[in-house]
Amino acid sequence: MKEICLLGATGSIGTQVLNVIRNQKEYRLRSIAFGSNIKRGREIIREFQPDFVSVNSEKTMLSLNKEFPDIAFAFGETGLIEAATYSTAGGYLVNAVVGVVGLRPTVAAIKKGLNILLANKEILVAAGKIINRLLEEYKVQMIPIDSEHSALHQCLKSGPKEDVNRLIITASGGSFRDRSRLELTDVSVEEALKHPNWNMGAKITIDSATMVNKGLEVIEAHHLFGIDYDRIDTVIHPESIIHGIVEYNDRSMIAQMSLPDMHLPIQYALTYPNKIQNLGFQPLKLWEIGSLTFRKMDFDRFPALELAYQAGKSGGLMPAIYNSSNEAAVSLFLKGKIKFLDIENIIRDSISNFRNIQNPSLDEIIAVDHKVKNSILEKYEVK
Ligand code: NDP
Ligand code: MG
Repeated sequence: MKEICLLGATGSIGTQVLNVIRNQKEYRLRSIAFGSNIKRGREIIREFQPDFVSVNSEKTMLSLNKEFPDIAFAFGETGLIEAATYSTAGGYLVNAVVGVVGLRPTVAAIKKGLNILLANKEILVAAGKIINRLLEEYKVQMIPIDSEHSALHQCLKSGPKEDVNRLIITASGGSFRDRSRLELTDVSVEEALKHPNWNMGAKITIDSATMVNKGLEVIEAHHLFGIDYDRIDTVIHPESIIHGIVEYNDRSMIAQMSLPDMHLPIQYALTYPNKIQNLGFQPLKLWEIGSLTFRKMDFDRFPALELAYQAGKSGGLMPAIYNSSNEAAVSLFLKGKIKFLDIENIIRDSISNFRNIQNPSLDEIIAVDHKVKNSILEKYEVK
């Protein structure tokens, strides 16, 4: 029996995790956490009957608790930590919340000895070094759910790590891949939310359009696989069929291909090291796809990606500052308070204005996250 704690149960990844474990006797959903989507939360509780549920506010908690008196409830950050650690040691935490809010719960789950299945890339960006140290100390394995990293995880089985020359992460290019920068000046939130290949949560869809998502993924890959930034490349691949490529020293490239469907990397993480049959997955018919195309990544067109390399190489607090400024900027853009191109300007300003320190503690990372977000939100919301 695999016991599962699922953070972000009502979201895009959370929903697909539930699809993968539905009707599978070997999984038991022990706990879930979500924010404010009570309607979806209620359906999940009815169907999966978890023992513990955490939500974002006391009000939501009280109203659900009346309906489900036999289930234990909590709310806020302490609730999220409890939900993340509800399984017994050896169980699984699937972290599918958005943003740095998932950091302390993950640290607590590592300390409890749970296997970590990670969709929440922001926490590795902000605190990759600390997380890696804890994984080693507590002998815990972390398997990526992000499709590119799931692909690299699979491709890296082809040869010894010392023979790896480069990791290559593919990028669909997002909603605006065929527009020039000039054409981005007045794009709307609705246009930015229309991703050509993937159906995902709002924040990551905007991150794909700005190419910040690829920036976060480069930093994520650096921490997951221990490869220098100079040996992690990105390439635009509009069809999203190849998700990641490992180039070995002999110049042989091993690529992973599949339809753009997050159910596959989710199942891979849940069943690793096995690769089981899932009757729901459609086979990839290469003759129907016909051709796969690639374009060189253009840093002038996507400056937010170059800023990610810069932040990653600076290390210390810089990747956290990059991420937090983006989280704040995206929330402002989604509320219609700033323009699309302001997102990258806000990130650039934050990287140059906030002071870096090397080897920050967890508390220092969380403090800078609050400081960066507050300073940006105050500037644009409270005039
Ligand atoms: P969604 O926005 O669809 O879902 C986010 C989930 O987190 C929801 O369940 C939401 O609850 C919950 N949540 C948000 N804030 C809080 C909080 N403070 N406390 C408790 N729960 C909270 O996001 P996605 O599923 O798209 O993405 C999740 C993560 O996975 C992100 O880090 C993303 O970058 C990563 N990822 C996503 C992919 C995808 O295909 N979607 C692909 C690869 C990575 P509610 O809605 O109820 O408020
Ligand atoms: Mg990805």
